[in-house]
Amino acid sequence: MRLELWNAVFLAGLIGYLTIRHLFGRRTKNNQKALSRVDATDWTLLVIVMAGSLLLPVLYLVTPWFAFADYRLPHIVPWSGLVLMVASLWLFWRAHADLGKNWSVTLELRQGHELITQGVYHWIRHPMYASTWLWCLAQGLMLQNWLAGWSALGTFALLYFVRVPREEQMMCEFFGQDYRDYMEETGRLFPRLNLKKNA
Ligand code: SAH
Repeated sequence: MRLELWNAVFLAGLIGYLTIRHLFGRRTKNNQKALSRVDATDWTLLVIVMAGSLLLPVLYLVTPWFAFADYRLPHIVPWSGLVLMVASLWLFWRAHADLGKNWSVTLELRQGHELITQGVYHWIRHPMYASTWLWCLAQGLMLQNWLAGWSALGTFALLYFVRVPREEQMMCEFFGQDYRDYMEETGRLFPRLNLKKNA
């Protein structure tokens, strides 16, 4: 086990991340589906992201297999990773808390699905994905290894760019004008400066 300080900090964060998902995931287990856009593409992307954000970093921590790709960075770099990790965990938790039972790991909507536009969803449409981007950057800055450090960023980028347009299309089909209005008012990952409203 390569238990250097930053590897241990990363592992603790990873356990926190998985705990949040587990606790909130349990609450959605009795959901009845109303609409599903789940297909082979969505599942394949999820498996690829699991490999990059879970399998590779854990193998890096418990085996010497990736030692050839190690490098060393100045101390400030993993410290900034820690700041991003804390921000990521906070946003991840808040997004789950705000979505409540309306969360799903895949592209589906439940019976009685509510459109959430408050809490962190008041500011941006994809806070959970924003938190995952922050997480991927934190992983890269903390694990000082080209492969295990940056595998999450590469694999999540793939999921993000394929999934988000499909997710938004599904939301538009289900919620119609309400979701289109919500899109007008919010940015995907960054709050929108709504100049029209203030004019
Ligand atoms: N894209 C969102 C949610 C990711 S989880 C984020 O990054 O925070 C994906 C599932 O969340 C979707 O399949 C849909 O069921 C649900 N969802 C996404 N946005 C939602 C919203 N504004 N209100 C309610 N449910 C939403």
